[in-house]
Amino acid sequence: MKTIETISEIKEAVKKLKSKNKQIGFVPTMGALHEGHLSLVRRSVSENDITVVSIFVNPTQFAPEEDLDRYPRTLKEDQAMLLQEKVDMLFYPQQNEIYTGDADTWVEIPSLGSILCGKSRPGHFKGVLTVVLKLFNIVSPDNAYFGKKDFQQYFLIKKMAQELSLDVNIVPCELIRDSDGIALSSRNKYLTEEERKSALLLSQALFTVRDLHHTGERSCAKLTQEMKKALLLEKKVKIDYIHIMDKRILSAQDTACEHSIALAAVFIGDVRLIDNIEFD
Ligand code: AMP
Repeated sequence: MKTIETISEIKEAVKKLKSKNKQIGFVPTMGALHEGHLSLVRRSVSENDITVVSIFVNPTQFAPEEDLDRYPRTLKEDQAMLLQEKVDMLFYPQQNEIYTGDADTWVEIPSLGSILCGKSRPGHFKGVLTVVLKLFNIVSPDNAYFGKKDFQQYFLIKKMAQELSLDVNIVPCELIRDSDGIALSSRNKYLTEEERKSALLLSQALFTVRDLHHTGERSCAKLTQEMKKALLLEKKVKIDYIHIMDKRILSAQDTACEHSIALAAVFIGDVRLIDNIEFD
């Protein structure tokens, strides 16, 4: 596996591959890789001739008070995992390779980018969409893989690709959980053993509302209330948001159906975790 740090070098490599009609799969990440990321990587390796993974902790999607500086950086371990998965290229740019000092071009979806995580993290999706479009332009992938762990992110990237007529197929990948149910996340590394126990409540509350729906409860107000009740059993959990939405349009519903998704974000201490569950 080749680790490439510059835009010009990776563009050159991609050009050569395209001239040989190779199909390129792309998995953008911020590193600190775990089985969730690797599930995307495996899918890309199995569906494409060439797989490119990027590791870039994108500063423009972090607000000043957020965890950019302490975000886990584990390049050596990440490289070893990607090598094992038979990834062809790792794109690992430095910050000044991606952003020149005066860069001021942005992609934004103001409506759907300012609900859910976008409401709690203003400007977050503007940073995400801009860097993802830039990475697409650098890597020119045929297929790009995104986890439904970040459902809103996947939804907005798909919308951007459609509305800007990008030549890339956005592939949604299933959310991967640990054996105890907790959604895998690089931010789980921040949790103490005790906090991790509290964090378990998030997935458990989501499973509970999904089960209530399966046994006939359709009122979103009732389901949301049940979830709140389950989460507030634990003092350490602070709810950021809980919503039940129609996953086809990412809009709140009164009555749940097979297209519903329950999405939640909580703080455990100062660690913000997100999770979701689809009802179908
Ligand atoms: P990140 O490094 O957190 O930006 O994530 C990179 C990609 O991996 C995104 O498409 C995420 O949605 C995906 N991802 C992260 N955690 C998981 C998970 N537990 N299951 C599935 N995909 C995930």
